[in-house]
Amino acid sequence: MTANKNKAKDILVVGEVRSRGIHGATLELTAKARELADVLQERVLTLLMYDSLDSDPSTLAGYGADTLLCARDERLGLFNQEIQSRIMETVIKRTNPRIVLAPASTSGRTIMPVVAARIRTGLTADCTGLEIDAETGELLQTRPAIGGNIMATIRTPKHRPQMATVRPKTFRVPAPDLARKAEVHFIDLPQEIFETRIEPLGLEISKDEDANIQDRDVIVAGGKGMKRPEHFEMLRELASLLEGGVGASRAAVDNRWITYPHQVGLSGKVVSPKVYVAVGISGSVQHLAGMQTSEFIVALNKDPEAPIFRVADLGLCGDLFDIVPRVIEALKNRKRGEA
Ligand SMILES: Cc1cc2nc3c(=O)[nH]c(=O)nc-3n(C[C@H](O)[C@H](O)[C@H](O)COP(=O)(O)OP(=O)(O)OC[C@H]3O[C@@H](n4cnc5c(N)ncnc54)[C@H](O)[C@@H]3O)c2cc1C
Repeated sequence: MTANKNKAKDILVVGEVRSRGIHGATLELTAKARELADVLQERVLTLLMYDSLDSDPSTLAGYGADTLLCARDERLGLFNQEIQSRIMETVIKRTNPRIVLAPASTSGRTIMPVVAARIRTGLTADCTGLEIDAETGELLQTRPAIGGNIMATIRTPKHRPQMATVRPKTFRVPAPDLARKAEVHFIDLPQEIFETRIEPLGLEISKDEDANIQDRDVIVAGGKGMKRPEHFEMLRELASLLEGGVGASRAAVDNRWITYPHQVGLSGKVVSPKVYVAVGISGSVQHLAGMQTSEFIVALNKDPEAPIFRVADLGLCGDLFDIVPRVIEALKNRKRGEA
């Protein structure tokens, strides 16, 4: 069923709850939805599906939600694609939104295509930009295409809702407006929603805690210039002195010098730390797609023509095997001095 295009209004954000907390991607998308809804002069509805929450869902009002739709049930503790997509479908049919946004996380990437196919509308995955066309009121969904070499802007002119996933950390999360208030509705969930062929067995959190780079304020990333896996040890040491995490280019990951969860870029993670240090990374468009919203970029490369220098706030041209150990030594000396 395609929702009635003429009557469709408001923006529905599909939020995410992890380990009983509202995930940052939900704040980010709710804030972006607020910006878009202000242009349309419509409301933002944020949907949360969970079994229990440690925080108050109404905190999302501060980021721009007008209404919180809470689907709370003990059977929602573990991600189940069948159940969550049915809840989403039910909510979409009840609220007839103009736009539906979800994070391009594993769960968002799993349920959004299912729902889009069921309600017969389009979906743009992995958007890096969203705007409202002032003339038509349509959602302009921008994402890299053709291997990241061009940015394509996609519209959904004939069907509603217009659905898009957005890679976490694409947009900055603003400070919350604590004066804003939202209505909180608990959705009644008919029993049929929970009839499923899937039995989630459990949740295993990755043991590689260092791979959780998206939450880091500082990232030190290495590329093909690192030459060998053991050379990543010095980046780990540098990152640890800066209290940051270690990232990598795809070339380093493809060479198995470091694991995929550390990859930054178009086919890896999008990160937006306060400081991003690129070491021996040339700065391909696909790598830049994952880190160019970083607040301060430091590039270290021996090639003065390397494209990474075009986005760098601070460029160091030289041999990384000479410079990185000296920086480590200087930081250690400073720490010793402070102790
Ligand atoms: C569809 C698609 C998706 C992709 N997704 C991603 C992605 O998610 N992330 C990603 O990173 N790439 C991605 N790529 C690959 C991308 O195109 C590049 O191939 C890759 O980013 C190159 O990695 P690099 O900069 O480490 O290597 P290179 O481009 O080989 O650069 C190595 C750099 O190290 C420098 N260097 C070498 N030795 C030293 C030294 N001793 N001291 C200082 N500098 C030195 C060199 O000057 C050079 O600039 C993708 C490609 C495609 C087609």
